[in-house]
Amino acid sequence: MPELPDVETFRRVLEKRALHRAIAGFDLEAPRLLDGIDEAELRKNLVSHRFEATHRHGKYLFTRLDHGPWLALHFGMTGEPRPFGPDEAPPPYARFVIHFEDGGHLAYIDPRKLGEIGLTPDPQTFVHDKGLGPDALGLDWPTFRALTQGARGMVKPWLMDQHHLAGIGNIYGDEILFQAGIHPRRKMEDLSEDELKRIHQATQDTLGLAIGAHADPTRMPPHFLIPHRHKGGHCPKCHTPLAHTKIQSRTSWYCPRCQPP
Ligand SMILES: [Zn+2]
Repeated sequence: MPELPDVETFRRVLEKRALHRAIAGFDLEAPRLLDGIDEAELRKNLVSHRFEATHRHGKYLFTRLDHGPWLALHFGMTGEPRPFGPDEAPPPYARFVIHFEDGGHLAYIDPRKLGEIGLTPDPQTFVHDKGLGPDALGLDWPTFRALTQGARGMVKPWLMDQHHLAGIGNIYGDEILFQAGIHPRRKMEDLSEDELKRIHQATQDTLGLAIGAHADPTRMPPHFLIPHRHKGGHCPKCHTPLAHTKIQSRTSWYCPRCQPP
């Protein structure tokens, strides 16, 4: 699933390629992606308008329309936005294609049709209505510490719960815990202040470096777990064979030596 670094990369694509272009129309192949609006309402809000700004919160991407409201996008399990030129064919699985008056297009690709397309008066209202926690990127230590007060249960699902902090999924949850040297099954209530500090620092460092690598697994720093989290993979720090375990039906990869139970 696209996580914070992926969606931040998408945001930068939209910032560069989708702003200040008049919208001529759109094709919506999968109306079931609409969340809380119908197609007519979307058309009324988009056509003859322009996107003027972008914003991201957790795994959600927002673009502000020139008349006020924001388009809110979630990319489901495998979605992404992709601009394409006047002479190019739409990419496969383009479920929603915006046509600009200058002849270019913006595709919302979603092979599994699990994304969401909605409208909101502003991202703050949206975040409040969805009950999302603060964005995981740029979160300071006192805020992170306050969020963890009284928290119970395994650390990995806690990190992935979008109501606690927004943006971390299965892949970056594993990466953060690997960088912090914390086993994914450790209990929140058993973590020391120092261990929580390590998780906080690893969250900021990991997300920042992943965004710097454009969320491309092939460009991740050499000490990252991401390129190694597969059968036969070894720890990039100590070369121990990696282990995996199922936590809430998701596979968690970890180093049994660097992340003791
Ligand atoms: Zn290791």
